[in-house]
Amino acid sequence: MNNDSLYREQMLDHYHNPQNFGELEAPDIDIELDNPTCGDMIHLTARLDDDGRVIAVKFEGHGCVISTASSSMFTEFAIGKTPEELKAMGLAEIQEMMGGIRLSMGRIKCALLPLNAMQEGLKESGEAS
Ligand code: ZN
Repeated sequence: MNNDSLYREQMLDHYHNPQNFGELEAPDIDIELDNPTCGDMIHLTARLDDDGRVIAVKFEGHGCVISTASSSMFTEFAIGKTPEELKAMGLAEIQEMMGGIRLSMGRIKCALLPLNAMQEGLKESGEAS
C-alpha cells in the first residue's frame, strides 16, 4: 500500500466512524459554518480551561469525506492547544494533520472548514484577539 492509499484509508475510517461527533453541553465556543462550494456544514462546540486551552471539542453536521474526516481528526488534534496556536494554523498544518496529504484546490475549503470554524469561534468568544 503506498502512502496515498494509506491516507485515504485513514480518511475513510474517520468518515465512517467520526470521533467526537455530537454537541457539548455549555460550550465556550458554539459556531456553525458552511462551505457552500461543496455543501459541507459543521456545528462545532468546544470548551476551554481557565488559560484558554481547548479541553474538549465536538462536531456535528454533514459533509463530504474530506470535510468530515478533517473535522473528526481536528477534534482530536485541537485538544490541549491554545487559541494562539489554533489561530496560527493554516492549510499546511491541516494537510500535515491529515497525514501529509496534498489537497486539490477544490478540496481545500472542505479540509479547512473545522479550522475556520474554530478560529471564527475563538474570535467570537474573545479568546484570540
Ligand atoms: Zn466538501
